[in-house]
Amino acid sequence: MVITDVQIELTGYQKEQLRAYCHIVIDDAIVIRDIRILALEKGFLVAMPNRRSAEPCAICSARNHFMARFCSQCGQPLGGTENPPRRIYRDIVHPISARARRQLEAVVLAAYEKELEADRARNAMAEGKELRATK
Ligand SMILES: [Zn+2]
Repeated sequence: MVITDVQIELTGYQKEQLRAYCHIVIDDAIVIRDIRILALEKGFLVAMPNRRSAEPCAICSARNHFMARFCSQCGQPLGGTENPPRRIYRDIVHPISARARRQLEAVVLAAYEKELEADRARNAMAEGKELRATK
């Protein structure tokens, strides 16, 4: 696997957990959009794109829309005593080996650091212009 392009979209909210979105191209052939870079206490987490889903129905195992309160297959209430039922997140795409995950994380986080530096440089340049304009 060769990651042939990486784009970083900073959220601009450096105090929030979600710091950036990342789009990558694999082997000049496949694009993966909306990988998220999250700042956690222990460091950055590269979160793969996922979607919300309700837990499978306890009675018939049917999968239901994430907002569903009742099973569309058998009509049973979803989530047992929990109201609303617990949501689960399923990755839409993800690396299937530890090696591929490390490779992807390294490329994504390096691009993120680079974009942060570029952003700081742009901000410093903009501040410099403002200072000169007020003199
Ligand atoms: Zn059901």
